[in-house]
Amino acid sequence: MENMKGSVSISTENIFPIIKKWLYSEKDIFLREVISNASDAISKLKKLISVGEADIDEQDWHIEVSLDKEAGTITVYDNGIGMTADEVVKYINQIAFSGAKDFLEKYQGKTDDAQIIGHFGLGFYSVFMVSDKVEIDTRSYIEGSEAVHWESNTGMDFAMSESEIENRGTYITLHISEDSKEYLDAYKLRETLRKYFSFLPIDLYFTDVEEEQKKAADRDKDKDKDKDKEPEAPKPINNTAPLWTKPVKDCTDEEYKEFYRELFHDYNEPLFWIHLNIDYPFNLKGILYFPKLKSQYDTLEGVIKVYYNQVFVADNVKEILPEFLMLLKGAIDCPDLPLNVSRSFLQNDGYVNKIATHITKKVADKLTGMFNTERETYCKYWDDINPFVKFGCLKDENFYDKVKEAIIFKTTEGEYVTLDEIGDKNAIHYIDDAVQQAQYVNMYKDSGIKIAVLDGPLDMHFINFIEYKNPGKVKFIRVDADVTDTMKDAASSVTKEELEALASGLADDFKKISGNDKLTVKAEAMKSHMPAVMLLSEEGRRMQEMAKMYGSLGFPTDNDVTLVLNASNKTVGRLKGLKDSGDSEYAELVCGQIYDLAKLAHQPMEAGEMTRFIERSAEILDRITGEK
Ligand code: ADP
Repeated sequence: MENMKGSVSISTENIFPIIKKWLYSEKDIFLREVISNASDAISKLKKLISVGEADIDEQDWHIEVSLDKEAGTITVYDNGIGMTADEVVKYINQIAFSGAKDFLEKYQGKTDDAQIIGHFGLGFYSVFMVSDKVEIDTRSYIEGSEAVHWESNTGMDFAMSESEIENRGTYITLHISEDSKEYLDAYKLRETLRKYFSFLPIDLYFTDVEEEQKKAADRDKDKDKDKDKEPEAPKPINNTAPLWTKPVKDCTDEEYKEFYRELFHDYNEPLFWIHLNIDYPFNLKGILYFPKLKSQYDTLEGVIKVYYNQVFVADNVKEILPEFLMLLKGAIDCPDLPLNVSRSFLQNDGYVNKIATHITKKVADKLTGMFNTERETYCKYWDDINPFVKFGCLKDENFYDKVKEAIIFKTTEGEYVTLDEIGDKNAIHYIDDAVQQAQYVNMYKDSGIKIAVLDGPLDMHFINFIEYKNPGKVKFIRVDADVTDTMKDAASSVTKEELEALASGLADDFKKISGNDKLTVKAEAMKSHMPAVMLLSEEGRRMQEMAKMYGSLGFPTDNDVTLVLNASNKTVGRLKGLKDSGDSEYAELVCGQIYDLAKLAHQPMEAGEMTRFIERSAEILDRITGEK
């Protein structure tokens, strides 16, 4: 062939500052571009063979990346379609470079990272981000084609001549520049290849020339010892058929678990999974896993790996996936996604919305299906999946509408019940701290009332949400918000008047002791052994908690506190007599103790209160032992 030289109308002063900036955040892009091109070149030739336009008997389609650290090069070879000299002129000099030109025009003057990150449209030209010289050696599949050599130092000028390669296909040789030297590190390069191409549909090999030479030298040294030993055949670094490509009916549970390990190197088994296989109205395949929480307090943090034709794009592309789905783990492949446009554009794409809606529906279907047909299993998983379901409901009311029948509540007895099964929906009793509220739960024993355990970080929001979705029909009340009939001692003969007298007779003492002159003091004959219980109205407490959550302190709650004296308790019965006996100091000690015990069973004490409580306890002990 005739040697050729030429230049491309791109000016470095313009493009390099932009590329460098872009590169800073997505430097690996050049590998994705070059290897995707290699994979495309093989697919194209396979296609030609399948339609009878090429007559080639090839059994070993592959791509090979070799690193020669000493020479400072990375070479990518594919045995695909190759290019003739005319095609190099057309596809590389004209098309590839014009792609770069488009890119430049589009981003001229826009130096906002957000607009640049995630744009994958630079194609072949991106190799100049990391190279100071690029060579192409290619031979077309067409019989009798001459091999072509092309090279360029800057991305602006090129030279073409005959190549010496014998093989069909294309070698792209990158002479890595000084500021991208990290790619010459075999470990880093292998890891980067694994990150993006673990599921590439074509076998991908990695060769480290230095390592091969070392191995060869070792073999020479031990020639006699290992003379019968064949050198190991190289293995591809990828799995060309990830499980999501397999028909759902052919996948076994073991395969799903194995694939989960392969994807996440997580040896905790997932609970269950959803295999997505959508052909219409768009193509999407993938597997979403519900992970097992390691502990109740484990924060849910999933990872959804997004692929484009089996090439990794990014984790958790928030523009495609509803936020709550990112609590799951898994992989999805969206070959229809317009990923060559910027992410901010993706956000407004109707097609992308459809994907999110569709996935959400599949997830909801899985949950309700399981609830309806395998309730026992579903309940077993509830502790692990409830944060996900709740978060999903809070984030997306459509999701709530789809799964609302499958929302269940765990009770203090370890049952799992729906809203309809829990009892009086207008007074659903719950606890949010099993230890702190044990005293109250005790009082409900044998009453048949189910008490829901709602102690997760999202539960308070979730309760509010469920009430808001069922106005006037559902109301949650924490066990310490009210004295219900179940807590009262039905056998007691104390009259209403007596109760009122007891309360009013001691109200001032308790107000004084608590330092809260708005304290409400009541009396009831209760089943509890405690002398008194403290109540905090549901509304008041929720407001206080909200205020705390949003960082404001000192929200006035004094109005909402009620102390209920237990008329069935002997100490309470003796209080009045103690007061009348003239030992007001002793009466005050006992009242203080009663108040603090009630408070202690209700909420943790502050340091000062605790000190006073301990001192007073010691004083009471002194009194008791002194008396006896
Ligand atoms: P795109 O891949 O988006 O078309 P590129 O700039 O990456 O743009 O590549 C330009 C063209 O160069 C490709 O469309 C293809 O025709 C050709 N090409 C690139 N790499 C190869 C290869 N390894 N084998 C054959 N043709 C290639």
